[in-house]
Amino acid sequence: MPNSIVTRRDVIRYTAGRVAIAGGLTAVVTMIFLIADLGTDPQALVPVGKVATASMIVALSVSIALSGALSFRSALLMRQLALTRAELMRVSRTDPLTGLLNRRGFDEAAALLLAQASAAGQRVVALMCDIDRFKAINDRYGHDAGDRVLARIGDILRDFGTHNDVLIARHGGEEFAGLMLDVSDEEATRYALALCRLCSTDVTGGGVDVPVTMSFGLATHLPGGDLPALMRRADQALYRAKDLGRNCVVQIDEVEAVAVC
Ligand code: GH3
Ligand code: MG
Ligand code: MG
Repeated sequence: MPNSIVTRRDVIRYTAGRVAIAGGLTAVVTMIFLIADLGTDPQALVPVGKVATASMIVALSVSIALSGALSFRSALLMRQLALTRAELMRVSRTDPLTGLLNRRGFDEAAALLLAQASAAGQRVVALMCDIDRFKAINDRYGHDAGDRVLARIGDILRDFGTHNDVLIARHGGEEFAGLMLDVSDEEATRYALALCRLCSTDVTGGGVDVPVTMSFGLATHLPGGDLPALMRRADQALYRAKDLGRNCVVQIDEVEAVAVC
């Protein structure tokens, strides 16, 4: 479809143009066929049956050709529209720096997983994690180095999520979120500790080694609760991990549990 079709008036103008072309083509093809079949003498006596047959052939041929061409073209446009819509959906749910789901993508995917897990009676544990003293990293090494740290941490989290079936997303800024299905509290803590250790690393690039650590908060989904409530509790656990000195994992359920990386 031409890019110039933007307003309603453009649509009407485009449609009128196509109708004029179709009408003109039909008239020309009909005329050619009838002249070829019935001759050019307007006074000639021609059997009615012959006229009816010729008219039928012309009408059928023209309508099949036109509707076929138009249907093919609109099917191509619909296909292109569906592909564009799918790409837009993907882009609007992806964080460009890390390639992870963004917050919108996470909220949608996590809500779905939570509903499925609840229906299947599976346990769900949410994770919130945040790079420690990231502002100081930006201030000391520069924004580009900060971006490299985010991308590297994104890679570590994505690899871990892929291998352990954990939904991972960049929740915003230097904060990441995760959702683990069908895990006990102990397994969830073990996963978070493994991540905490993996993320406790030097990120090399641009001629500098940037030392990084992260803090983790965990919360178990409670019956009757929803995703925002679960993520809020994971966030509280994360705040507690920051309070306790960072580079550690805190789980808040009935009893607070702390694990140092
Ligand atoms: P804490 O250990 O308590 O989490 O401290 P912090 O310094 O990590 O947290 P704070 O909220 O004070 O600072 C977060 C910083 O993250 C501030 C903001 O400029 C930076 N930031 C957010 N998004 C990006 C980004 O996409 N790239 C870079 N380079 N910096 C970012
Ligand atoms: Mg931080
Ligand atoms: Mg933060």
